[in-house]
Amino acid sequence: MREIPRLIFNNEIVARRADLRKVNQSTPVLKNKGALNIIFFDGMPLVNKTNSQTRLTYLFHDHWLLTHVDLTVFIGLYKGKSIFAHNIFKDRKDSSHEDTLGYFNKRIQNDLMLNMSYFLNLRNALTDISDEESALAGTGKALIHWNLNNKYCGKCGLALSIKNYGWERHCNSCNQHHFPRIDPVIIILIISGNKTLIGRSPHFPEKLYSCLAGFVEPGETIEMAAKREVQEEVGLKIYDIEYVANQPWPFPSSLMFGLKGNTNHTLLDIDKNELEDAVWLTREELKNLLKGNCNNMLPARPGTIARLLLESWVRNEI
Ligand SMILES: [Zn+2]
Repeated sequence: MREIPRLIFNNEIVARRADLRKVNQSTPVLKNKGALNIIFFDGMPLVNKTNSQTRLTYLFHDHWLLTHVDLTVFIGLYKGKSIFAHNIFKDRKDSSHEDTLGYFNKRIQNDLMLNMSYFLNLRNALTDISDEESALAGTGKALIHWNLNNKYCGKCGLALSIKNYGWERHCNSCNQHHFPRIDPVIIILIISGNKTLIGRSPHFPEKLYSCLAGFVEPGETIEMAAKREVQEEVGLKIYDIEYVANQPWPFPSSLMFGLKGNTNHTLLDIDKNELEDAVWLTREELKNLLKGNCNNMLPARPGTIARLLLESWVRNEI
């Protein structure tokens, strides 16, 4: 049986139900006892680890943590229940990120109902969270980030009001409507005969190598962006670009378009501002890397679209 690589953030577990976003914002939804509440601090969801499984921590509507919330967004319906994502804010302006996190962690550890809970850095621990709940965490994280970073009107500069439970902001001064922004990014498996190219950016975790990626610019198709990025980063001309798969990527608000493309050349001209290193690997070498048999390199992590591209190519599926 064909094994399909998992892609985190990619499932349809949430019924988005735009119609339910329009309910009166003053409705005391937190008093809806059937609702599920998940909470974030600085983009990190509160999770708990029991029996080696990491799950989101769901709070009752009257939990003390919900009194420290400055933003609530409605994600949708999950297993028939309303699910809300909340952002915890710093009570004191002069307290540092670490102080505030320490304060909440201490109170959480003293709460018998929460003492297995902690704030998870999703980016560092991508595979800790289950596939199903990754969609809840990813959507909540992205939507909270957009709201916290779009408090003022980009047109006239005045404060925006929140609408549709976090899915829209409106300027009452100039009547401009603002909607959550998504940034398209291409990520591409570059093939030359029996070899593929992987590289590492300076901001990657140590030893990690992945497919080349870059933002799509205004006026570009995803194929044009792929050609430009590859030319800029490693000096290669690519052709026969094909779409493979896509993945929402809430760091903070990307949509990754996974592509593959061919090149007739292998000589690299690496832009050292963009890439620390880039290397060609044969299918056998990549297979070894994916098995964890390389001391000095780590492959793109399971659950990412880069990993899907690499594994699919090794298995001759793309
Ligand atoms: Zn305005």
